[in-house]
Amino acid sequence: MTKIAVIGAGPGGMATAMRLAAAGYQVSIYEAADRVGGRMRGLELGPYQFDTGPTILQVPHLYEQLFQDCGLRFADYVRLIRLDPNTRIRFWDGTHLDLSSNLPAFKAQLAQFGPGLPAAFERWYAEHLRKEVVGYGPYLGTPVRSPLGYLRPKEVAAALPFRPWESLYTHFERFFPDERLVYAMGYQAKYLGMHPTACSSVFSLVTFLEFHYGIWHPEGGFRALARGLARAAEDLGVQIHLGRPVHQVLVEGGRATGLLLADGERVAADAVLVNADFGHAVQHLLPAQARGPYTDRWLERKEFSCSTFMLYLGVNRRWEHLPHHQLYLSAHIRRHDPLWARSAVLDEEDPSFYVCNPTIVDPANAPPGHSTLFVLVPIPNLRYPVDWAARKGPYRELILRQLAKLGYDGVENHIVAEHCYTAETWRDEHRTYLGSVFNLIHSWNQLGPLRPHIRHRGARGLYWIGGAVHPGSGLMTILEAAKSAAHFIGEDVPAPKPIPTGALQEAGH
Ligand SMILES: Cc1cc2nc3c(=O)[nH]c(=O)nc-3n(C[C@H](O)[C@H](O)[C@H](O)COP(=O)(O)OP(=O)(O)OC[C@H]3O[C@@H](n4cnc5c(N)ncnc54)[C@H](O)[C@@H]3O)c2cc1C
Repeated sequence: MTKIAVIGAGPGGMATAMRLAAAGYQVSIYEAADRVGGRMRGLELGPYQFDTGPTILQVPHLYEQLFQDCGLRFADYVRLIRLDPNTRIRFWDGTHLDLSSNLPAFKAQLAQFGPGLPAAFERWYAEHLRKEVVGYGPYLGTPVRSPLGYLRPKEVAAALPFRPWESLYTHFERFFPDERLVYAMGYQAKYLGMHPTACSSVFSLVTFLEFHYGIWHPEGGFRALARGLARAAEDLGVQIHLGRPVHQVLVEGGRATGLLLADGERVAADAVLVNADFGHAVQHLLPAQARGPYTDRWLERKEFSCSTFMLYLGVNRRWEHLPHHQLYLSAHIRRHDPLWARSAVLDEEDPSFYVCNPTIVDPANAPPGHSTLFVLVPIPNLRYPVDWAARKGPYRELILRQLAKLGYDGVENHIVAEHCYTAETWRDEHRTYLGSVFNLIHSWNQLGPLRPHIRHRGARGLYWIGGAVHPGSGLMTILEAAKSAAHFIGEDVPAPKPIPTGALQEAGH
């Protein structure tokens, strides 16, 4: 039987493993941690349970499609709860806006910001109904092509009316001449590792997808989503080995032949799929002769996203009136000189931050009357050194004070349990290069064929899945990449059964 060894039980590793197992390969995942999920593996502090990474689930039908392609029903594994509002954005001037998929309610709010704005939003939305058709399939939903492969005249002609050369900032400003709205609609750029002034307007599609398909929460948190993916993978025959760190990928004669585990065991495989963080893995898991183009110099020349300072707080009260997702945008978001735009500066005055208040829809994560709060602050990755041993305590104090700006006053008087992450935690405990949580940024020179290819360029039989490859970092894009990874492996290592890549195959790729 054809054997595939996977390094890492992150969402990308598990989703690809599901597709491969459904095609009849014998798939084994080796995961360093004692639980599945990678950045979304979660943590517990006494009776409080926290998500550690993702909190925003977009485009739920991608999950349904993954399970359906593998002959399963997503609803048998995970229950999704739709949130309304999607996210509340509180601005530097004290005003706020609830981004919502309830479009009449959203337009009524826009009218308070300016009389012409509801009509502008309708124009924007209509444009994006078309942009999804033109942009999603060819650019997000299909495997990466060569640079020349993107010059298909019909596709280029269809894309040009959407002005892809514009920045996200210019794009939104064209529709919404109020800077608050520009940042509210463009904040997702941060997840791409970029400031809206530096990010291409093609990514307004992400904003649209959130309006159009809503934002969802897996019951039991993203930990439950991770467990659901693992259970489905196991039901398809995947073996998941927890607490089994991989020491090195074995490469012989230019071909990956298996894994050497940290405990000395050798695992033979016909192909190896690496889900471990790309920068970490090329430095620590590949033998020097198999790194291909991805030298230390290559890594140094690439731009990586910010890291995040995290506070996971177990508190002895609830904030029922505050929404699930809230984002505070400080006036500093309007600074776009290069160091600020790149998140290279630790904002120690008035940082923007995000809070997730999941207990209101998911009460089982805390004792009765208590709740958990997830606080995320973008901070520089470790390329821009901060003395975290010295800064961590004062930064925690600052962030606890900042929380009042989102309505969480006096939180410090209610904390029962807490845990803090800095960029160093992401590097050391999650094995993430530079602690950069959203991987390679999505600038034009790091998009599509200019990202690392799923097929490794330094050895045959070695493949990548995760945020570094096309189409990029984030659960939605990683699920798309999982289809492509299964497709490329299937092209190179004949599968016992057709590879279930759904729409991808129907599109003839
Ligand atoms: C704070 C934060 C907030 C986020 N918010 C969102 C959000 O709201 N929505 C969204 O869509 N995305 C979000 N993301 C991004 C999302 O979490 C990532 O895109 C996703 O987790 C990456 O998945 P992955 O498949 O690349 O694997 P990862 O999650 O990176 O998992 C890789 C796995 O490989 C394992 N591994 C590494 N080295 C070894 C080794 N040597 N041997 C064995 N195993 C190894 C690791 O332990 C880990 O389990 C967020 C990320 C963070 C950190």
